[in-house]
Amino acid sequence: MYSVTDPATGELVEEIPNATDEEVQDAIARVHAAYPSWRQRPVTERAKIVLRAAELFAERANDLAAIMTLEMGKRINEGRGEIGIVVDIFNYYGTHGPDLLADEPLTVKGGEAVIAKEPIGALLGVMPWNFPCYQVARFVAPNLVLGNTILLKHASICPRSAAAIEEILHEAGVPEDVYVNTFAASRQVPAILADNRIQGVSLTGSEAAGVSVAADAGRNLKRCVLELGGADPLIVLDTNDMDETVKATATARMRNCGQSCNAPKRMIVLDDIYDEFVEKLTKRVAEHFVPGDPADPATTLPPLASIAAADEVAGQVRQAVEQGATLRAGGNRVGPGAHLEATVLTDVTPDMNAYYEEIFGPVVLVFRAGSEDEAIAIANDSPFGLGASVWGTDAERMRRVADQIEAGMVYFNRAGGSQADLPFGGIKRSGMGRELGALGIEEFMNKKSIRF
Ligand code: NAP
Repeated sequence: MYSVTDPATGELVEEIPNATDEEVQDAIARVHAAYPSWRQRPVTERAKIVLRAAELFAERANDLAAIMTLEMGKRINEGRGEIGIVVDIFNYYGTHGPDLLADEPLTVKGGEAVIAKEPIGALLGVMPWNFPCYQVARFVAPNLVLGNTILLKHASICPRSAAAIEEILHEAGVPEDVYVNTFAASRQVPAILADNRIQGVSLTGSEAAGVSVAADAGRNLKRCVLELGGADPLIVLDTNDMDETVKATATARMRNCGQSCNAPKRMIVLDDIYDEFVEKLTKRVAEHFVPGDPADPATTLPPLASIAAADEVAGQVRQAVEQGATLRAGGNRVGPGAHLEATVLTDVTPDMNAYYEEIFGPVVLVFRAGSEDEAIAIANDSPFGLGASVWGTDAERMRRVADQIEAGMVYFNRAGGSQADLPFGGIKRSGMGRELGALGIEEFMNKKSIRF
């Protein structure tokens, strides 16, 4: 069942039944049948449609933000901000797509060749609720320009975002069968991947969903991109403005109520500044992030996406404390909706579950490191490898640290970021493949060698 439940109140607003197996079959048939003519359209035409979609997203920013606030509790201002990057992504691929898809000439032994950049067919996208529009944009914009067609299964708590995105794309000129939204249940995904008419799958979501989708993709020899969880380290080497560092790092962690895959979930601070950092961070987190109504622009801490999610994160915090961690701030659930106080935990050790788990909510873990090497060792002691950030004043030292971090992305003096022209993705249990930038259009591409 797809449903809309207001996380601010816990009130059920709407329920939509799952697609039947016949409806899913019909959706597969449509995206498959639409592929030959879509791939034959000149790339400049596909790019123009994608640019028109950017304009429509920009025009509807307020409506889309309101939908996200209702469906998953995003602060209304953050929702508008999310549409800003969606617009950037559609603009980026609409503008640069034709160049990115130009033949790549090769001089080979005995003659000339090119790599032609072609699409592969109908794809399945399985998307999460935490950034209902941005996650879809990362997958859809490059693949529409490339010439693939798309069947999209969104998170079951985001049916209105899913429908609004489909409407915008169709209005922009994407033919109805080139982009099809389905309210399929996750249990119907294996059958979709087993279908010969589907050529690949992109999943953004949890590790558990990744394991399941990767297994189905493997069994059926389908191409697969996985953007999964993370427990990004944020290393503070030194600072010449502790107040600013604390403010910026706390904001990065609490963005989207802590529900970002690449939020800095583990802060690792060198010994000489650790005590001051923890004291100031605790004060900032406790005083600045106050639970409130996500529709009110003045609110600093919205609810989590659902009551189940808030209970789960509160349970992770409780367990950490029972296992010996120090609770410096927050930790309590606040009703009637899905609020959890912004939380700071220290003294988390490898024998506690919280050390290795992803905590998908407004919870910061802070670790003390005796040296740069120890900071790197703590950063890498994680099953995940999505992003990381290094904070300091010495660019050479920061680069030395960055080079030793096991992650798909490292930022300097900034955390949890994303931009249309910079590839995004992880290693280890954070997944495989890249989205955004020039690499993001290559994942479902047939790089065809043509030897003249
Ligand atoms: P989720 O529960 O895995 O759901 C994501 C999507 O996968 C939903 O559409 C869900 O459908 C579907 N799904 C769940 N189990 C499935 C299965 N066994 N087979 C096929 N599909 C399945 O994840 P979430 O709770 O929405 O998202 C939070 C997670 O996503 C976090 O771990 C976060 O770090 C990660 N994430 C990663 C990135 C990245 O770029 N690396 C970005 C954002 C989020 P239903 O809703 O119908 O269950």
